[in-house]
Amino acid sequence: MRKAVFPGSFDPITLGHVDIIERALPLFDEIIIAIGTNASKQNMFSLEKRMEFISSTFKGQTKIKVATYEGLTANFCKEQKAQFILRGLRNPTDFTYEQTIAQANDKVNGVDSIFLIASPEYSYISSSIVRDIARNGGDFSALVPK
Ligand code: ADP
Repeated sequence: MRKAVFPGSFDPITLGHVDIIERALPLFDEIIIAIGTNASKQNMFSLEKRMEFISSTFKGQTKIKVATYEGLTANFCKEQKAQFILRGLRNPTDFTYEQTIAQANDKVNGVDSIFLIASPEYSYISSSIVRDIARNGGDFSALVPK
């Protein structure tokens, strides 16, 4: 069984995340969307809300699970018996950030990373842009799932 963990903050989930997940579905038997919890990180949406947004977006999709975890993503993958980490790449900055983490996860933990390049129509979307718009009372509905 090919299992992937798609880790992130998902604060909140955006159409960019949804695009990566939908395109990855044919590649895996199961994708665990895993919200990493970090006590020192300030989030806009509570953990419960973030889980609820993800669950309702993928309702009825039997290959998708939603989970939360603390600590190292690679340890969570081992716990879940997931061989792969799924990530999206929007630009060279994402690549530079991801490269060393992926290399370390492979060498240290034997967990390989699979990257999908963002679709051009979504590559400008980030959770932080959605939060900025929300904080300032703007309309962010075109950037997130219904
Ligand atoms: P993190 O804080 O770990 O970057 P995010 O929730 O921001 O968590 O993102 C989770 C994953 O989704 C990351 O691999 C990120 O690059 C990817 N991602 C975020 N936005 C997009 C997008 N618009 N298109 C493609 N991938 C994206």
